[in-house]
Amino acid sequence: MSGIHHVTAIAGNALRNLDFYTRTLGLRLVKKTVNFDDPGTYHFYYGDEAGRPGTILTFFPWEHAAAGRGGVGQTHQTAFRVPARSIGYWTHRFIENGVTYEPLEKRFGETVLAFTDPDGMSLALVGVPGAENEAGWSDGEVPAEHAIRGFHGVTLLLDSAAKTGAILTDVFGFKETGREGSTIRYQASDAAGGIVDIYEAKGFLPGRLGRGSVHHIAFRAADDVEEAEMARKLVRDHGMHPTEQKDRNYFRSIYFREPGGVLFEIATDIPGFAVDEPLASLGQELKLPAFLEPHRKEIENVLPAVGKAKAA
Ligand code: ZN
Repeated sequence: MSGIHHVTAIAGNALRNLDFYTRTLGLRLVKKTVNFDDPGTYHFYYGDEAGRPGTILTFFPWEHAAAGRGGVGQTHQTAFRVPARSIGYWTHRFIENGVTYEPLEKRFGETVLAFTDPDGMSLALVGVPGAENEAGWSDGEVPAEHAIRGFHGVTLLLDSAAKTGAILTDVFGFKETGREGSTIRYQASDAAGGIVDIYEAKGFLPGRLGRGSVHHIAFRAADDVEEAEMARKLVRDHGMHPTEQKDRNYFRSIYFREPGGVLFEIATDIPGFAVDEPLASLGQELKLPAFLEPHRKEIENVLPAVGKAKAA
């Protein structure tokens, strides 16, 4: 399987982030851990029941992060898929919950409901015919029939699509499947996380990373062997220089900045989120990698308390 593995973004207040994604959007908190490179910061993972690749949105909540600014070299929008007939339910839900949203629009023949999270992150729900046949997870906040079915895809705002598009098609298994206005669509599959749209905006201002910005986008590799093969192609055919592999406990990753300026990651599908806690109770306890476990007390003391959050 090819496509998006996860999307990682920057939030402000941790509790507000938890509340929005678990209650308002009804996603499952599948892992509560820390940023392995900055252990005084949480790393929240939201997804479907198991946090399958293609459904995982993750956040670093930095309480005092300055607001980001959208622009060239950034992820412009992150879109989730819902059943086509659920768009009315969601519009109503956004009104009831005071979520800022935009009038419905059509994109590549599908209905798009754009909205923002409390940190100003640009999101959308896309009504996908047939998505009702995919399992929807629910803990009662959002009925299973209307539940989010993972990512529809992301839109990148780039000066030029060519070099990034070449990496998507040559290394990550995408195909160019359409154009609409300034947007080029690349698709890896009909499943969750299968789409990357590139909006070509030559001459726009560059973006600035901050609260509400996407930090990076990770693409799927089945295992270490496939990841290493992708890395070789990036070096040999695209002049990229990916990092050494890093063990993220739930997947193993390499990183590189793609030619358009967006930080890309390749993450393995294995081992997944049930590697250190049972599927039934994912996300309930603070999980730390082995190298941070000796520092648990200090880490717990500096993290903001989120114990009252419903999902915790
Ligand atoms: Zn990542």
